[in-house]
Amino acid sequence: MSETHAAHPAPDPAHPAGANSAPPAFEERGSGRSPETPGAADLRARAADLDTADDLAKLRTRFTLPEDLVYLDGNSLGALPTGVAERMAEVVTQEWGENLIRSWSDGTWWTAPERIGDRIAPLIGAAPGQTVVGDSTSVNLFKALVGAARLAGEGRTDLLVDAATFPTDGYIAASAARMTGLNVVPVDPDRAAEAFGPSTAVVLLNHVDYRTGRLHDLPGLTAAARAAGAITVWDLCHSAGALPVGLDEHAVDLAVGCTYKYLNGGPGSPAYLYIAARHQQDFDSPLPGWNGHADPFAMTPGFAPAEGALRGRVGTPDILSMLALEAALDVWEGVTVEAVRAKSLALTDFFLECVAAYVPQGVLEPVTPAAHAERGSQVSLRTENASAVMAELIARGVVGDFRAPDVLRFGFTPLYVGFADAERAARTLSHVLGHIYE
Ligand SMILES: *Cc1c(COP(=O)(O)O)cnc(C)c1O
Repeated sequence: MSETHAAHPAPDPAHPAGANSAPPAFEERGSGRSPETPGAADLRARAADLDTADDLAKLRTRFTLPEDLVYLDGNSLGALPTGVAERMAEVVTQEWGENLIRSWSDGTWWTAPERIGDRIAPLIGAAPGQTVVGDSTSVNLFKALVGAARLAGEGRTDLLVDAATFPTDGYIAASAARMTGLNVVPVDPDRAAEAFGPSTAVVLLNHVDYRTGRLHDLPGLTAAARAAGAITVWDLCHSAGALPVGLDEHAVDLAVGCTYKYLNGGPGSPAYLYIAARHQQDFDSPLPGWNGHADPFAMTPGFAPAEGALRGRVGTPDILSMLALEAALDVWEGVTVEAVRAKSLALTDFFLECVAAYVPQGVLEPVTPAAHAERGSQVSLRTENASAVMAELIARGVVGDFRAPDVLRFGFTPLYVGFADAERAARTLSHVLGHIYE
């Protein structure tokens, strides 16, 4: 541990920045020289060493990123993998422009949802044949929740929903509950297991809280829900591609997630639905479109669901976005999600250490848990003027995001973020805070 860090212990969450905290004494003043921060040379040297020793550092060349940008918003929109633009040009000019309708039957189009689902599967710990890509996360939540309610036994009345959930999950859950006659019961994921009982039909939880970055106990909560006879639906938007999920290992029933965050599929790239093999026979989708039919081209009037996860398909897939996502998944060649997780924890530890060294105590309140077992791949820091602070950070080339009312969110994507980026982000943050409070 560096001297600097010892001199400024990590801010204590029990004593958050209050309205009365004195403006910190910052180093930066308009003297013309580049602003320096105590201990910065030391931490910069450490960052360089950590980057040199990092086996994943070379993966940054698999992405197209502006040279001088520290991009800490890959938990909202992942960076552009290098092969995607070329593949898109080929899809548009040849597969669409020249092959036209023939691409549906002769090419790679029709089977894209299940093929790409099986490429995502290893990243979420799923054996092949259980993951299908298409539609948005919100739409897949609807399929999963109504499907789960139909799988749940008779006499169960409650749909338990993560009380701090990403809003769309809550909105969709309320509608699904209304349609299936269930009651929505908000639960604190940290204490959800206590709420599971004989009336619990379905449990919907976010694996990582999008605002605080807290990682919930998927193995323990899934086991507890299963013991109570309930069906679990996990939202993996902030975990897939960032940390091991283990859907099969932990006997999750249903899961959904998006692909434009840690999977770098591009803006609005299609989401996925996981249906555990043991439920596929009975999974009754509330959106039985013709693409999920056992024999779509028979064009029969009655719906007969396809075997396996295919019954989670709805209508014609959005091929351009699908094939961009497929090309984006090439960045995972030779990379394990376990290695990504190890680097993510090292990066977030180092970022927190730099923040503690550079920013006076009490100005920022870390809301992401310090314990590795409870931390996703982001660091959220609460502060006054968070919106203005983030705007200024972005103006200085450090891109994170702001979540109302007072959270600065920094996503750490180990495939293309390094330790020098973490140090620069913390240093720039200290300068911005000094500037804001001056
Ligand atoms: C990003 C995110 C979503 C997004 O849903 P869309 O339908 O893709 O817009 C849903 N849930 C969670 C937890 C998210 O983080």
